[in-house]
Amino acid sequence: MPIIASNFKTNHTRASTKEYLEKVNNYLKTSQNSNSVFVFPTSTSIDNFSLEKNLEIGIQNAYFTNNGSFTGEIGLEQLEEFNIKTILIGHSERRHILGETGEEIAKKFEFYKNLGFTIIYCIGEPLEVKEAGLDKTLEYIFEQFIGIDTNYEKLILAYEPVWAIGTGKTATNSDIENIHKAIKEKIQKPLLYGGSVKVENVKDICKIANVDGALIGTASWKAEDFIKILENTK
Ligand code: PGA
Repeated sequence: MPIIASNFKTNHTRASTKEYLEKVNNYLKTSQNSNSVFVFPTSTSIDNFSLEKNLEIGIQNAYFTNNGSFTGEIGLEQLEEFNIKTILIGHSERRHILGETGEEIAKKFEFYKNLGFTIIYCIGEPLEVKEAGLDKTLEYIFEQFIGIDTNYEKLILAYEPVWAIGTGKTATNSDIENIHKAIKEKIQKPLLYGGSVKVENVKDICKIANVDGALIGTASWKAEDFIKILENTK
């Protein structure tokens, strides 16, 4: 059964997150859905909401520290308070908008790996690299694994082409197939696809060889749509 993850990015309040999680949780309790479900709300909304564990709440970002002087960041101490054990690392918005370097990402990975967190590690190429062809794309993607322990047992990968994120442009099924195959040949870990996945295309995408699920932003922000996505992939 696929792994389906919702990334809220900078959307939803505490109140609307609670409502969202209740709806999704109720659906999971009453349906025969055995998908593995993750939700990444904003860090202000990671309260555990006393959910029964039908889904896993993760953090979109945290610094590689227990605590300390890192203005604007949160660390392990804050995550432990809410029993958070799952983290998204290397998301393209962190790399390309917030300027996180490969070195910082690798440190973050190592820190949370050593704590036994489940890590969803994102990789993906920008448009100019895609346009330079498949070999260049794979070269770029594999560089994103430098300093990353790809044998880590709690590692899940997410291939998200930068040009497909939030743009409504999805990679073609054959692009997804080729790139997933190449990644899986080297790294045998669950591999999600992300980038403009929605209710209408999620089923077909999840059927592509070597696609183990989806990481979804925009199309997952309404609970009703996320539930449809879960229904379409169960
Ligand atoms: P999108 O985002 O579904 O809005 O393209 C995916 C992601 O950033 O994880």
